[in-house]
Amino acid sequence: MTSVFDDLVGQEHIIEILQSAATASRDGAQTQEMTHAWLFTGPPGSGRSSAAVAFAQALICPDNGCDICHDCNAAKTSGHPDVEVIRTEGLSIKVEEIRELLTRVAWAPSMGGWRVVVMEDADRLTESAANALLKAIEEPGTRTVWLLCAPTLQDVLPTIRSRCRHLQLRTPSIEAVTQVLVNRDKISPDMALFAAKVSQGHIGRARYFATNETARSNRKVIMQLPMQLGSLASALQAAQTLVDLATEEANLNSESRDEIEIEKLQEAYGKGATGRGMATGGSKAVKELEKEQKSRATRMVRDSIDGALLDLATFYRDVMMAHAGLIESMINSDLRTEIASYASKSHRPTVVQKVSAILEARNHLAMNAAPLVTCEALMCDLARK
Ligand SMILES: [Zn+2]
Repeated sequence: MTSVFDDLVGQEHIIEILQSAATASRDGAQTQEMTHAWLFTGPPGSGRSSAAVAFAQALICPDNGCDICHDCNAAKTSGHPDVEVIRTEGLSIKVEEIRELLTRVAWAPSMGGWRVVVMEDADRLTESAANALLKAIEEPGTRTVWLLCAPTLQDVLPTIRSRCRHLQLRTPSIEAVTQVLVNRDKISPDMALFAAKVSQGHIGRARYFATNETARSNRKVIMQLPMQLGSLASALQAAQTLVDLATEEANLNSESRDEIEIEKLQEAYGKGATGRGMATGGSKAVKELEKEQKSRATRMVRDSIDGALLDLATFYRDVMMAHAGLIESMINSDLRTEIASYASKSHRPTVVQKVSAILEARNHLAMNAAPLVTCEALMCDLARK
């Protein structure tokens, strides 16, 4: 029998809790297992939002999340009247958005069970937005279930997290990720293992690497950068290369999505029929959508740079492994020769410093620092002997 929880890799401990909560709370019954605020935390790629969406499906499916019925499908594709998935495209969730959301979810569930709100980036709530949300979570006796997701507990205001039942997801093992890629995505075992390794248990990224040749060739270029860092000029060039590749990759992924969205919106306003609708409400709506898309593109570029920096960090990590003689524990087994040669010419303390420099650059980027300048500063640090 299929289940919405099948896709959660290496999270058996969580699946058990969610399944029993869903079963116990059939049709909106208040039980001990069931509470109306949950917080899913876990490192990127552990599948915290997939877990939350699966739970939402299980709550509204007549069969506890069969993954094949109409309710299950509609919930997954945001087409279910009782399930709302909030994905943030911008860098923060503002109080206006939360207020609007609260009016939308104020009425009773249409099917008589639960109304479920999945918030994928609860760590991006501004303080006032979090406070507005808090009031809704505290309201007793509602039929709305809040499923909040964040990287760690510390990313969420204490007032909110103290009212949520907390579930911590684990990073799935390399073996578990490899298995899923082979069994579910029909990827060859060698490619699956390579992708699982270089993505360090991040299932989405692993699938992306395994199925996307551009991503793999970009990674190759990024992973050669440490060997090319000599002069100041080469450091600046490396920063430019990294930002260019990340931007290109992000744009490639967002452009087709942008076009489809605009097309859909224009259709909704009656495009082609020289409609008055298009002239009045339509063009304003398109402008707003374009603004949203721009902010999403900015975020995707940042995410893409962050991914490249994570890749780069694995290079230096592997150099430390080589120093320690732990060749077998290398992530980048495809770069064994390069890493060994780099290791023979470097000392452990400086390599440790380089890893910290990368982490620091990631923190700066997360706090909205300008990407190119941040990467230039980083590459200069990495170029230092
Ligand atoms: Zn179902």
